[in-house]
Amino acid sequence: MNTEAIDTFAGAKKPIIVAGPCSAESEEQVMTVATELAAAGVTLFRAGIWKPRTRPGCFEGIGPEGLQWLARVKKELNMPVATEVATAAHVEAALSAGIDLLWVGARTTTNPFAVQELADALRGVDIPVLVKNPVNPDLELWIGAFERLNNNGVTRLGAIHRGFSSYGEKVFRNSPQWQIPLELKNRLPHLPIICDPSHIAGKRELVMPLSQQALDLNLDGLMVEVHCNPSCALSDARQQLTPAELVAMLDKLVHRSSAGDTSYIAHHRSCLDSIDDELIRLLARRMEIVRQIGEIKKDKGLTVFQPFRYKETMERCAALSITHKLDVEAVKDIFEAIHSESIRQQLCIVNDDK
Ligand code: PEP
Ligand code: MN
Repeated sequence: MNTEAIDTFAGAKKPIIVAGPCSAESEEQVMTVATELAAAGVTLFRAGIWKPRTRPGCFEGIGPEGLQWLARVKKELNMPVATEVATAAHVEAALSAGIDLLWVGARTTTNPFAVQELADALRGVDIPVLVKNPVNPDLELWIGAFERLNNNGVTRLGAIHRGFSSYGEKVFRNSPQWQIPLELKNRLPHLPIICDPSHIAGKRELVMPLSQQALDLNLDGLMVEVHCNPSCALSDARQQLTPAELVAMLDKLVHRSSAGDTSYIAHHRSCLDSIDDELIRLLARRMEIVRQIGEIKKDKGLTVFQPFRYKETMERCAALSITHKLDVEAVKDIFEAIHSESIRQQLCIVNDDK
């Protein structure tokens, strides 16, 4: 996929700010929010017309009638408008209403048939399309959606990072797993990526810190859910901000430069390079010993995985992390990766001459 010179947000000021209600609910709600956001200098107005709800019986969007409210925002407030599309019929209706930008929702991105249907409906249409990450942390599936659209001639593409769903108790509604959008940036360097802190957060108190993190990670903008009366919203009531809260947040966000002078940190970076070299040498030594143990396990008929030893290693590392004021969870992730590579090496040895 050729991603050079993507001008999805041609001419727009960075960071791109897309804001508006989760769902368009009434003409009055749409016009009230949009009027305040236009005055706040928001780049694009968003509102969901068709809502993919987890359980039936919830508000599933106002439907095509709402497109006319967005058309009013565009005409009267001179503000470009965006909505989510999930089927070819949605695309057709949105295009005839003059919607300026379309986005593919997280649930849709998980389904290649649905993405292909959208790509086919968009063949030959010059409109910017943003693709939210799939609900599961699968970078290939996300990239596949861009490829399907791009293969059909959609060139003005962009990504929306809205976090990944997981089961059980959690701080975030959708875990940010920032390494995935950052890897997307490595794979498709010219693709703009904006962050949707609202769907990551799930609650309004976390929207500001997540927005700051997104900017600190050099993402290109934000998509924020804003409602004139959030607690009465028909969808995602907990995570929407009022227009005034959005304005206050935009005011407080700190903008850092990625293109500034890095000479101040050159020395520190060369120290880090030496440490990384040392880590690699240590890993190579560790793996050498792991292989020697593998030979002995094979010889003595011992299993490769020994739960007691694994538990002991992880506990020892956790205790050491505390002594060295390191984040226990982060160290645990690193040692799980090291342990799983060690097991892989030993499995190769014990199965070598079979
Ligand atoms: C939305 O933006 O309102 C929405 C439904 O988001 P997602 O696809 O990220 O769940
Ligand atoms: Mn929403």
